[in-house]
Amino acid sequence: MTTNTFGYLNTELERLRKEGMYRLPAVWSGASCPWMETEGRRLLQLSSNNYLGFTGHPDIRAAAIEAIRQYGAGSGSVRTITGTLDIHDELERELADFKGTEAVLVFQSGFTTNQGALSSLLGPDELVISDELNHASIIDGIRLTKAERAIFAHKDMDQLEQRLKENGSRKRAFIVTDGVFSMDGDIAPLPAIVELAEKYGAYVYVDDAHASGVLGKNGKGSTDHFNLHGRVHVQVGTLSKAVGVVGGYVAGADVLKRYLIHKARPFLFSTSQPPAVAAACLAAIRLLRQSQPLIDSLWDNADFFRSRLQEEGFDTGGSETPIVPVLIGQPDKTAEFSRQLMQEGVYAQGIVYPTVAMDKGRVRCIVTAAHTKDDLAFAVDKIVAVGKRTGVLK
Ligand SMILES: *Cc1c(COP(=O)(O)O)cnc(C)c1O
Repeated sequence: MTTNTFGYLNTELERLRKEGMYRLPAVWSGASCPWMETEGRRLLQLSSNNYLGFTGHPDIRAAAIEAIRQYGAGSGSVRTITGTLDIHDELERELADFKGTEAVLVFQSGFTTNQGALSSLLGPDELVISDELNHASIIDGIRLTKAERAIFAHKDMDQLEQRLKENGSRKRAFIVTDGVFSMDGDIAPLPAIVELAEKYGAYVYVDDAHASGVLGKNGKGSTDHFNLHGRVHVQVGTLSKAVGVVGGYVAGADVLKRYLIHKARPFLFSTSQPPAVAAACLAAIRLLRQSQPLIDSLWDNADFFRSRLQEEGFDTGGSETPIVPVLIGQPDKTAEFSRQLMQEGVYAQGIVYPTVAMDKGRVRCIVTAAHTKDDLAFAVDKIVAVGKRTGVLK
């Protein structure tokens, strides 16, 4: 008799360890905020997506608690059977009003939103043209389809036009891009993308996971930021990052919503958001609509932090948002930088190959509105100290 063991899995894990890519999640205690505890140590957090500090906001907590009292813990079903509660409907109406689109359809996460929307919209009659740095959920969503696929180099509008030209009017073309790129913190050239789309009769699909609550008036996203209302066909947003809860949505035409209700598999075959989640999201969106001063201080913090690091001689790549990568290089060097930073009391996630190119490892810092200037100055001091010690700074 032979006994199966998972030795072969360990071989792969050992390989990851050798190359500086092995990492188990830290376990944190307490609510998400700039200072968090892990293994009994208090660390300044520069890695969460809690851009506006909404995860712990008293109004949002209260809405969740009240929804549990009223509806219970779960929704009991998928959306298409008995899992659409009035609270889900209200959330979708509020989001459509906020985004200024005909309709919104909410999913359980941003990930399932992309998976569901892309796999429904793309088939053998479509060509999908995707920025090379798009999020994993976009890549996976596209992989599920029989669409013809093309990639354009990051934000390279000449290549995008080339792909569109090659297609002519052979297939229905969809251009897919992140609104804000999660590893580099740069903004997609949406006006140029929309112009090319209009020139070649293509559809535009933008994933605003890191732009929701961050870019545009009251955090309406990149379409609003560039004043492209009515010219972007599919706007994906998350409720998981700046909105502070969990979930995702598609904002667009009413026909798009009704189509996805019939086709999107995570919507059809996975239980809907628990009532507390939908209620918390609704409270968060209502709060967001009055939060421009908070968003302004988020951007003020981001500009302060980024320019301080640049003054000290760090390379922050193409960052122009609250996502500020500090470029280090090879995976092992990046992991070591992040580890030493943690010893100094600052938690900033090292991001290495294969998430980014082999020589483009970086410590990715995310600034929030909840950080004080003192917090950020403390972080810069520690990053400089580690930079000098490791030879990243000459
Ligand atoms: C985080 C992220 C997602 C996934 O969103 P979740 O709600 O966390 O599942 C999708 N797209 C992009 C661009 C993201 O950054």
